Amino acid sequence: MEKINSLTGMMDLIANKSNKEELPNKIFHTEKVLESIFKNFSISQIRTPSLEYTNLFERSVGETSDIVNKELYTFLDKNEKSITLRPERTASVLRSLIEKKLDGDSHKLWYLGPMWRYERPQKGRYRQFNQAGVEILGYEEGMAEFEIISIISSINKRLKIEKPIIKINHLGNHETKKNFCDALVEYLKPFQSKLEEKDLTRLNSNPLRILDSKSSETQEILTNGPRISEYLPKKSLEMMDMIVSTFSQECEIQIDQNLVRGLDYYTGFVFEAISSNLGAQDAYLGGGRYDNLCKHLGGKDLPAIGMAIGIERLSLLSNVLEGDKTSISIIIISNNTEPKAYKIAHDLRSLNNNINFDIQLSDGSLKSKLRRANKDNADYAIIIGEEELKSNTVIVKPLSDNDSEQTTMDLNDLDNFIKNLE
Ligand code: AMP
Repeated sequence: MEKINSLTGMMDLIANKSNKEELPNKIFHTEKVLESIFKNFSISQIRTPSLEYTNLFERSVGETSDIVNKELYTFLDKNEKSITLRPERTASVLRSLIEKKLDGDSHKLWYLGPMWRYERPQKGRYRQFNQAGVEILGYEEGMAEFEIISIISSINKRLKIEKPIIKINHLGNHETKKNFCDALVEYLKPFQSKLEEKDLTRLNSNPLRILDSKSSETQEILTNGPRISEYLPKKSLEMMDMIVSTFSQECEIQIDQNLVRGLDYYTGFVFEAISSNLGAQDAYLGGGRYDNLCKHLGGKDLPAIGMAIGIERLSLLSNVLEGDKTSISIIIISNNTEPKAYKIAHDLRSLNNNINFDIQLSDGSLKSKLRRANKDNADYAIIIGEEELKSNTVIVKPLSDNDSEQTTMDLNDLDNFIKNLE
């Protein structure tokens, strides 16, 4: 029969019991740490559907962006409506707030879940990947920017990320952005013959994106070009300096005037966190201010700033593994006694929620079940056999400490033993 595989660029994540350093284990743990950080910042959770009408992304992410141009998973549904698997979630968050008439209020929201982009898969770049994100809505430029960088700094600290760099820039408001783009286009016109195809297209459609061109020749040309800082109000420049001085003791913050980000909706403050340990795809999170987007999508004038965190990339960088929980492998030996033995196991679980109880469900021998318990890194085996059941006892065998002897315990003592385990 023909083998059925997963789609290119889409990963299965299966946790490995005996090796917490495997990527799926790190991903699941990173998600838990992020959730606890978001709670620590008093941010509420939002979950939106995976599918949206296609025009939501065309209108928000932008028709000139790579995402909308070539990366959307778009289909016609049975009703001939064009629908799209979300490539990012900011647009969905705004769509939801506008639809529920919540766009007149301020909000701090976080989300977590898969996104889909039809990209060329490579290390750290997948077609289905997971993003956690934060959106802070209803606040003008200022404290919200500090809050976002404070969250990033907490993520770096809690996951012990080595040598992270936060790059920041400011794109100004709509008008500043336009004036700067006009000057950039004017400056680049005489160099058109030296620009590569992609940059030439951007010169007409989205000149700002030329700033993050991968071509070294383009970058060389840009060194003498206009700088966005020359177009920014003093207040914005001061805010960036204050962010650098407030957080630079905790991690390196660089002002990078070529940082523009791939989505069209950003205005004002933008940022990205990178690590050289990731290779070519070095950004593990990014975001910025998008003050015009809510109105642009038909809602109220709601200033906002947000970020999206690439879970796979962040997990690759994380140096924090899931903590060791005490784990007990329950080995039932005789078939005749199973219902009673199973009831003992069932009751044990409710005595201590901090312990992982794994009943071995197979029919194997004691020896093979102990081997399995050791392979799974269990701390204890509780062996329930016919003889023990007759005398209302079980055998408790420590597995992690070779010197400890196994003991026979009556069921009352077992209850106390389990309750007192940490
Ligand atoms: P973006 O939504 O493009 O601003 O991306 C935010 C973060 O999501 C990036 O910094 C990456 O860490 C992650 N990311 C974006 N695209 C992909 C992808 N195709 N595969 C894995 N991670 C991604």
